[in-house]
Amino acid sequence: MPSAAEKPAAPIRWVEISVASHPEAVEAVSEILDRVGYNGIAVDVALDEGPHVVKAYVVYDHAARVKVRRVKEAIGRLRAFGLGPVGEVAVRRIADLDWLESWKSQFTPVRIGPFFVRPSWSTARAEGVEIVLDPGMAFGTGLHPTTRQCLEAVGEIDVAGRSVLDVGTGSGILAIGAMKRGAARVVAVDVDPLAVRAAEENARRNGVAIHVALGSAADVAGTFDVVLANLVADVLVRVAAELRAHLAPGGTLVCAGIVREKEELVARALRGAGLTPRGRDQRDDWVRLDLA
Ligand code: SAH
Repeated sequence: MPSAAEKPAAPIRWVEISVASHPEAVEAVSEILDRVGYNGIAVDVALDEGPHVVKAYVVYDHAARVKVRRVKEAIGRLRAFGLGPVGEVAVRRIADLDWLESWKSQFTPVRIGPFFVRPSWSTARAEGVEIVLDPGMAFGTGLHPTTRQCLEAVGEIDVAGRSVLDVGTGSGILAIGAMKRGAARVVAVDVDPLAVRAAEENARRNGVAIHVALGSAADVAGTFDVVLANLVADVLVRVAAELRAHLAPGGTLVCAGIVREKEELVARALRGAGLTPRGRDQRDDWVRLDLA
């Protein structure tokens, strides 16, 4: 008799909840879907002027209906709030295999600055500094504009021989990129245990040694030549002083994940913490700020 712990014979069925959303509302929609999503959310980033699509997957069981209802209620409130156009909540059932495939189809090899980011299941030949990832989560796959912006920064900043702190490491993509470009030491933190595990696994996969820890900037000791913080606007405002405290004299802080409408708010908080703006990059509605 197979034990209960063994793989069930019937494939798990999933419910995919997806919401088309204007770039300005992606952050808020993601936050709502993230409350129910198994292993987070995925964002299908629009390649043209169309909306992004935020997706979450929940196991098709007795709790799925409640989760769908909660999402619909929260999205309804968000729409009433008037934050960028947000589409109807679409719900469909899918088999396990489809789910895995849908993750994979969203993540194809991509060149970003000097880097060539490829999923672990792709055999594409590297044309640059290779980063191999198995995301297991939405962020850090190299597809999201904020990840691209930050990875480009890691490609541009002279990190060789320097110390780097990556706050909100996600899949570890930026930390791995920094190590591959010759950083002397990289510390990566994330408040999400799933991210910590993914970053550790991805570091191993890429043959680089990164110190990954659960927590945020406040839990790290010392200062760093480069501090990377691809977080959301409100979190950046909250941790501005901590980011400043970890920046070595003459160092560079890269902040991203800032929706355009909150740029001034974040910039003010960072200036208030004693940081000086040095550069800015905008992709779609996402802003990256470089400070010293
Ligand atoms: N650095 C990756 C992931 C960015 S997503 C990339 O560029 O693609 C943002 C990550 O920050 C998430 O993994 C989230 O769990 C984490 N996070 C959110 N708030 C945080 C905080 N206060 N301190 C540290 N990490 C945080």
